[in-house]
Amino acid sequence: MNHPSPSSTAQDPLKAADARRLILDGLSPVTGSERVELHAALGRVLAQDVIAPLDVPMHDNSAMDGYAVRAEDLRAGSETMLAVVGSALAGHPFAACLGAGEAVRIMTGAVIPDGADTVVMQEIVRREDDRIFIPAGQQKGRNLRRAGEDLAAGSVALAAGRRCGPAELGLIASLGIGEVVVRRRLRVAFFSTGDELASIGQPLAPGAIYDSNRHTLSGALARLGCELLDMGIVPDRPAALEAAFAEAAGTADVVITSGGVSVGDADFIRELMARMGEVSFWKLAIKPGRPMAFGRIGDAVLFGLPGNPVATMVSFYQFVQDALLSLMGVTPLPPAERFAVRADFALRKPAGRVEYLRGRLLRDGTEPGVTLAGAQGSGVLRSMSEADCLIVLPEDCTSVQAGDTVFIQPFHGLV
Ligand code: AMP
Ligand code: MG
Repeated sequence: MNHPSPSSTAQDPLKAADARRLILDGLSPVTGSERVELHAALGRVLAQDVIAPLDVPMHDNSAMDGYAVRAEDLRAGSETMLAVVGSALAGHPFAACLGAGEAVRIMTGAVIPDGADTVVMQEIVRREDDRIFIPAGQQKGRNLRRAGEDLAAGSVALAAGRRCGPAELGLIASLGIGEVVVRRRLRVAFFSTGDELASIGQPLAPGAIYDSNRHTLSGALARLGCELLDMGIVPDRPAALEAAFAEAAGTADVVITSGGVSVGDADFIRELMARMGEVSFWKLAIKPGRPMAFGRIGDAVLFGLPGNPVATMVSFYQFVQDALLSLMGVTPLPPAERFAVRADFALRKPAGRVEYLRGRLLRDGTEPGVTLAGAQGSGVLRSMSEADCLIVLPEDCTSVQAGDTVFIQPFHGLV
């Protein structure tokens, strides 16, 4: 890995895009793979190409309910009468070969009988007993799905690096494949730092608060399919932190901490981490989530996220998630989703930093809009829960007026 620079000694805060690039450059995927049963591949990353062992579909088949015919039988200028000699249903092909002047009743998905080359949809056909009348003007080859049209035998159905979602499971199943080789899971150790933090079930001392970051992180990590190593809460003591970092870096591929990286705290943590590995502290030109550490201790990649609960989540999604996907072997990385919508709020902001606001999409107008989801303090988790998107205001933006176009990143999609 390149040593990430510049470090926090630089005066200017680092731009979000530069931080992302510094993080993503120089990460290489975990090695090691395992063969898993198809359903267990959900969320996993293919370690090998999946090659189609057969054509999909295997046979030319009908895309419509109608009649399979020979185009050469159809008259160009007038109606054609054909004799219906049988039927073909999905899973029940017509056994014989279609002769001159003959048609076969055919349903969607049924194999096109030998001799037939065209399907005429039933809606335009007039039937009288075992005879049909087809209007003029039919085109040869219509309403067929060709063998191999979806995937040709021998072709790459899914390339290594693809993360399996429901569509991929279905595609693999359609090839008759029941097991795939996937990268091993990424092992991620995480802990919260702070003398004020208590775990659920512990009594709250005066001034103490419950640790929420470990739970947002474990949720986000579990959704990515990581193997979780929850190391609990570590107090703000150098010896305890050193022991925790050493243990985490010795067992995990990635170590994620929250808290302790703000200006006052960072000094002693920086000293500690600098001794243990290669770590840079950054002041990022973003809000929320200004302080952040990134680097490596031993073989483990380290992310030191800010402690404020919303800042933890925002920096996780902006900087950590794609790094984890990259380490998991996902290639190419999914493009950053950004959609332009109409702002239904107004605010001012200083130039020079990216702001991530919690937003709620408005879907009732003619074009989608977005409004603010409650108070925007970086400790207000409720607004994160009530939001369904982040509104991303770029560095050069200094104000938003109602009606302006802003960019959002939606939280949920069809996944
Ligand atoms: P720090 O980055 O350690 O200075 O923390 C910034 C703010 O986030 C402080 O108000 C902390 O109490 C709060 N905080 C830090 N870690 C957590 C956590 N794990 N859960 C909830 N709040 C936290
Ligand atoms: Mg702290």
